[in-house]
Amino acid sequence: MQQDDTMPTGLLARWRAIPLYLRIIVGVALGLATGMALGPNAASLALPAKLVLRILGALAPPLILLAIVQALMRAHLGGGQAMRLVTLLLTNTLVAIFIGLFVANVVQPGGWAKIGVPPAAPEKAHGAADPLSQLFDAIPKSIAGPFTDDGTVMGVIFIAVAFGVALRGVRHHEVRTVEDLVHVALTSLIAILHWIVDLVPLAVFGIVASIIGVKGFHDFIALGGFVIAVLLGLFLQACYYLTRVRLQTWVRPLDLLKGVRDALVMAFSTGSSTATMPVTYECLRVNVGLREQSASMGALVGSNFNNDGTALYEAMSALFVAQLLGMHLTLGQQFTVALTSVIASVGAAGIPEAGLVTMTMVFKAVALPTDYIAMLLTVDWLLDRCRTAINVMGDVTVSCLLDGKTKGDPGD
Ligand code: ASP
Repeated sequence: MQQDDTMPTGLLARWRAIPLYLRIIVGVALGLATGMALGPNAASLALPAKLVLRILGALAPPLILLAIVQALMRAHLGGGQAMRLVTLLLTNTLVAIFIGLFVANVVQPGGWAKIGVPPAAPEKAHGAADPLSQLFDAIPKSIAGPFTDDGTVMGVIFIAVAFGVALRGVRHHEVRTVEDLVHVALTSLIAILHWIVDLVPLAVFGIVASIIGVKGFHDFIALGGFVIAVLLGLFLQACYYLTRVRLQTWVRPLDLLKGVRDALVMAFSTGSSTATMPVTYECLRVNVGLREQSASMGALVGSNFNNDGTALYEAMSALFVAQLLGMHLTLGQQFTVALTSVIASVGAAGIPEAGLVTMTMVFKAVALPTDYIAMLLTVDWLLDRCRTAINVMGDVTVSCLLDGKTKGDPGD
């Protein structure tokens, strides 16, 4: 799918000429400095950032819908391909969990943690009726939301304005077939996505500043062993992906990392693989040169089920808390952890800290106290970002594997 929107000029053109990952890195750096300078006062900077992420989240479902419709219409999706996708997703997730359990058993992070106290309850968001949060509430959570019984007129207006402006770019496009219609819909959706993606570096600035200001780094010392073990596990998973790409696809690992760095940096800075999804897809199509079919199957369809970083993290957290409490998990119990982690990771939405919610399932399966999950919240803002980047790297890997050993023709 190509972008048909009109060429931006002036300041916007210059802003877009800087690679996205650089713009995001600048956002992170400025956010770090502002968070440290303002402390807890930086909390309010999170709201505009959440707004941008919310719009991206609302745009993801129609994007998936239209991509699948277009792929099916062009007879790109076969049953064999779907089976292959399922097999790839499952093997990658199982390897992730195996790595997680292996590292947790070897490193034994629970042995070095200096935390014995039951965790505090997570802080509640303080949102009152200030104008910004009212605006925030008016932004639809999904494209269809404003048209339901609970919808607001403001939501309909938002959608109308967005599509009205986006369609200006393609208003002379002739629509003669159903395929043209889907193409125009997809093109205008992508035009809207590009505007929002332009705001991502600013959103990143707000999120980073508020998190550093409110949470800071102190809990990293107490939970240091756990943080290091998780980072090691995620690093090993990344090595596994790159090895698989090297051996089983035409893509060179270094070219791949270079091609998808916008997506990886965005995943790290937003903590949301769903918000990153459109960028991942574009990187795979435009920079790496995968076939449309492979990119949409891996990055748009597969992405919803593919959260290897989350699976690895959930399995490791269960083992960590067990070690902390001096409970020994038998091999059978670790197998239960693995099995429930697969399910829990599939159920985790691609939004920040979703993994902590589904983690309760893994804890309950082996009778671990779920209260301890809240303790992980203090370091989760960083670990979430790292596992989200691995989740996106998983989508990228699956797309490459689906593309196979030979490069497709441009435009495939
Ligand atoms: N934040 C992760 C994602 O968007 C999900 C998680 O919390 O593990 O992929």
